[in-house]
Amino acid sequence: MSFASLNLAPEILRAVHEQGYSEPTPIQAQAIPAVLNRLDIMGCAQTGTGKTAGFTLPLLQLLVPFASSSTSPAKHPVRALVLTPTRELAAQVEESVRTYGKYLPLRTALLYGGVDIKPQIKSIQGGVEIVVATPGRLLDHLEQKSINLSQVQMLVLDEADRMLDMGFMPAITRILAALPPIRQNLLFSATFSEDIKKLANGFMRNPTMIEVARRNAPAELVTHQVYEVPALKKHALLAHLVKARDMQQVLIFCRMKRDADKLARQLVRDGLSATAIHGDRSQSERSLALDEFKTGKVKLLVATDVAARGIDIDQLPFVINYEIPNTPEDYVHRIGRTGRAGSPGDAISLVSPEEMDYLTSIEKLLKRQITRLPLPLLGGERDTRPPRERDAAARTRTSAAPLSEEERRERSEQRRVREAKESARAGRAPYQAGDSPVPPLKAPFPYPHFDFSKPYEAPSKDTQVESAVVASASPPSHRPQTRSVGALLGRKKIDKP
Ligand code: AMP
Repeated sequence: MSFASLNLAPEILRAVHEQGYSEPTPIQAQAIPAVLNRLDIMGCAQTGTGKTAGFTLPLLQLLVPFASSSTSPAKHPVRALVLTPTRELAAQVEESVRTYGKYLPLRTALLYGGVDIKPQIKSIQGGVEIVVATPGRLLDHLEQKSINLSQVQMLVLDEADRMLDMGFMPAITRILAALPPIRQNLLFSATFSEDIKKLANGFMRNPTMIEVARRNAPAELVTHQVYEVPALKKHALLAHLVKARDMQQVLIFCRMKRDADKLARQLVRDGLSATAIHGDRSQSERSLALDEFKTGKVKLLVATDVAARGIDIDQLPFVINYEIPNTPEDYVHRIGRTGRAGSPGDAISLVSPEEMDYLTSIEKLLKRQITRLPLPLLGGERDTRPPRERDAAARTRTSAAPLSEEERRERSEQRRVREAKESARAGRAPYQAGDSPVPPLKAPFPYPHFDFSKPYEAPSKDTQVESAVVASASPPSHRPQTRSVGALLGRKKIDKP
C-alpha cells in the first residue's frame, strides 16, 4: 500500500514524502482510512508503531476544508484536541503535526505545565485549529477561560493508559465536559485495563478496534539479559558494564525520582557523563537533559518510568533496568525504548534478591526465562567465586565485548607481572611492555537474539512488519487483559469480533 492510495491531500503527501516514508506502517494503513471515515477508534499501540502519524495525518486531512490564511482569530477556532500524559510526548506530537501540516495554513498550539502560561494564552488568542496539551495545563486554561473548546470536532487521547496511571482521570473528565457532545474520538493505549475500558465506554461511540504490534518487535531485535546482583553492588556493576562494553548511549531506569538523581550524581563522580530526567525537574531541565542525551553530549540518561514515556530515539542501543519495574507492563514499556527502527538493542536488568518476585512475573508474561549472565569481578573486589563460576564469567566476558582501554591496560599489566614472575622462575629476561602486544579482543556479543517462542510469531517475509487488523467494534470489555501486552511483544493480531 502507498500513502498516495490513502486519499490524503497533496500538501500532506508532500510533507510525508519529505520524511522519507515509503509506505504506511500497519497502524497507519488501518487507522488513516478509519479516521477519514469519521469512526471512533481505539488503537492498541505504543510508540514505535508510527501511531502518531496514524492519527495526525487523517486529523490534518479532515481539517483541510477549514484551513484558512485569514489573520482573524475567529477563522481559527480550536477544532482538534490531542491530550498526552507528558510534556515530552506533547512536544513530540506537536512537532509531528507541524511537520506533516507544514504546507497547510493550519495553526497549532502546544500547552503543557511547568512553563509560563502567558505565551500559551497569546498563541491561543491568535487562533489555532489544533491543540496538543497535557491535561493539567489544559485544565488551567479552561479554568481561566483562556481557551474555548466548543468547536472541537476531534479528540485524541494518546497513551491513555499512562494518563490514567498518572492520575489524570478527574482532569480528563472535566475536559470532556467542556467539549461538544458530537465529535470524533480516538484513543491510543499500549495496554487495555478495566479502567481504560471504563473510560472508553464513557465517551466513545461504538469504537473500531485497531491492534498492532510494534514495527520492530522486541522479540526480533532486543536481547534480554539479567545480572543477579546484591543491591549494594548495583552501582559498581553498572559503572563496570558501561565502561567494559563501551556503551555510548544508555537509558537507565530507576523506580523513584530521588534514586534517579542520586544515581546520576554517582555516575558523574565515576567520571561518566550522566544526567537524570524525572517529574520533579523543571521543563527546561528535562528538555535540556533529553536534548543532550539525544545528541550524544551525555551518554547516560537516568529516568523514571513516567518521565521516559514518549522518549523516541530511533537507535538507542541499551536500556538498563537499574531497578526492575514492579509491573511486567512497565518492563515492556521500558524495553520498547530500544530495538527500534531495525537496530538491535540490549535490555539489561540488574536484579537484587529482593526484586526476584518482580522478575518472576516479568518472565511469566514473557513466557520464558531471561538469560542470566555471570557477575563480572568488580573493582576492589577479591574474586571469591568458585572456579567454575569464575571461568564462566571469564568466558562470557572474553567473548561478550571488546575490552575498554582501561581493562586492556589492566590485563596487560597483570599479564606482564605474571610473565615476569614466570620468567624469573625460569631464569629468562622479564617481559617488557611492547614486546608482544596483547591483541584487543574484538569478539561481538554472542547473545542469541531474544526469542519469544510464544506468543510471538515471526513476521512473514513479504510483510516485514507485524500485521494489524481492524476489527469491528466489539465491546472492549470482552477482551482478555493480556492480549494487548501480547501484541506489544510482537504477537500478531487475531481479533475476532
Ligand atoms: P511513533 O510510533 O509515532 O512514535 O513513530 C515512531 C517512529 O516511526 C518515528 O520516528 C517516526 O518518524 C517513524 N515513522 C512514522 N511513520 C513511518 C513510516 N510510514 N515509515 C517509516 N517510519 C515512520
